[in-house]
Amino acid sequence: MSFTAFGLSAPLLDAVAEQGYDTPTPIQSKAIPAAMQGKDVMAAAQTGTGKTASFALPILEKLSKGEPAQANQVRALILAPTRELAAQVADSVATYGKNLPLRYAVVYGGVKINPQMMKLRKGVDILVATPGRLLDLYNQNAVKFKQLKVLVLDEADRMLDMGFIQDISKILSILPKQRQNLMFSATFSDEIRKLAKGLVNNPVEISVDPRNTTAVTVKQWIHPVDKKQKPALLAELIQHNKWERVLVFTKTKKGANQLVNYLNNEGIKAAAIHGDKSQAIRTKTLADFKRTDAQKGSIKILVATDVAARGLDIDQLPQVVNFDLPIVAEDYIHRIGRTGRAGSKGQAISLVSADEFKELTEIERLIKQLLIRKLVDGFEPNHNVPESKLNLRPKKPKKPNKPKTGLNSSKQSNEHSEGKKSGIKNKIRSGARKPTEGNTSNKKSGGLNLQARKKPLS
Ligand code: AMP
Repeated sequence: MSFTAFGLSAPLLDAVAEQGYDTPTPIQSKAIPAAMQGKDVMAAAQTGTGKTASFALPILEKLSKGEPAQANQVRALILAPTRELAAQVADSVATYGKNLPLRYAVVYGGVKINPQMMKLRKGVDILVATPGRLLDLYNQNAVKFKQLKVLVLDEADRMLDMGFIQDISKILSILPKQRQNLMFSATFSDEIRKLAKGLVNNPVEISVDPRNTTAVTVKQWIHPVDKKQKPALLAELIQHNKWERVLVFTKTKKGANQLVNYLNNEGIKAAAIHGDKSQAIRTKTLADFKRTDAQKGSIKILVATDVAARGLDIDQLPQVVNFDLPIVAEDYIHRIGRTGRAGSKGQAISLVSADEFKELTEIERLIKQLLIRKLVDGFEPNHNVPESKLNLRPKKPKKPNKPKTGLNSSKQSNEHSEGKKSGIKNKIRSGARKPTEGNTSNKKSGGLNLQARKKPLS
């Protein structure tokens, strides 16, 4: 199948060809025809599957016809949970739509609102927004939805995780009822289905990956290691393997800062990206990390918290490292979705200490496989990570997050949820049962020759 089969017009086909895309990805093959017919779509697709083009192209096609946007009006609205994702989606929209006479804009919190109000004044055809800032703009009459034809909810699962449900309900209540709805989510939990009920009408349901699976192009394993040894092991792995570009996840903002200091002291160029950094710094750090050459100022190691890294699309990202395991098992899938994107190969490596056994088993249960364990010579843990057994019993549904109050919550919700989550994590971790020590089942391997000791049950 080629992009020409979708009936897209020449300006869009040219832009797609310029990106070097020959064949539509599976999500594109399924979502584009449905969206082009004007149907509502509900799609379960991991990041990195090409989902942005799967909604951006049909929207651009639709908006290339019809009345241009009038003052302060918006014709298509794309909601994204984080500033980074919003900026990235807006870049993609502008890239795919570069040959069309349409106006695009992106708005998110953490930066001045005035320039955004100015941009909206003439009206925009496609607006990408985080929910809180959009509501701020709406409350100041800077944005209107009389002409709105299409709504996209991108990474809807993360929107709920971040407590945006009230903001989303409010936004839905101010949009025209007659519109096309496209909803994308990495996973379809029961909460997502509940949200979908009030949003999509008779949707075409699309799933390109079986529920809760990790990308097959990503090789995953863990290094059991004592907590104190994690920074040194990471530095060793980076140097020994000559890793050039690694995205490292930590649980907390403080942990991210500490790790960056450690790596920089070891002569490894690293920087952190998280909710305590200003938007300008976050944008610059990301740009420095995305540079492919060894230019002055380029960063090899980006240390991020889950919220900040959500939805990042970085070309050629061969390694993702979980310095800490995420407390929410689903985040493991989101994290490792940063690598192995659009079919390229990637590695997802987790440094796991004994006190993370509970998190490890939750992840293994979710991805339905035991992760291969590799011991690194000189970093064998004194506190062993117990053997895990695959538990495939379904999990009890978790209680929905309490919605946040107030409407000015774009920035607040981002930062808040990051802090709140790590608080929860710390509590659970300190209360976690200590695994039995002296379990010496983890076998050594020589040098940095890493030996697989357990095959995943795939
Ligand atoms: P997304 O899931 O939308 O974030 O896209 C992930 C990556 O896949 C981006 O870098 C896109 O440029 C790339 N991509 C999207 N569609 C295609 C395609 N049909 N062929 C090759 N790469 C693509």
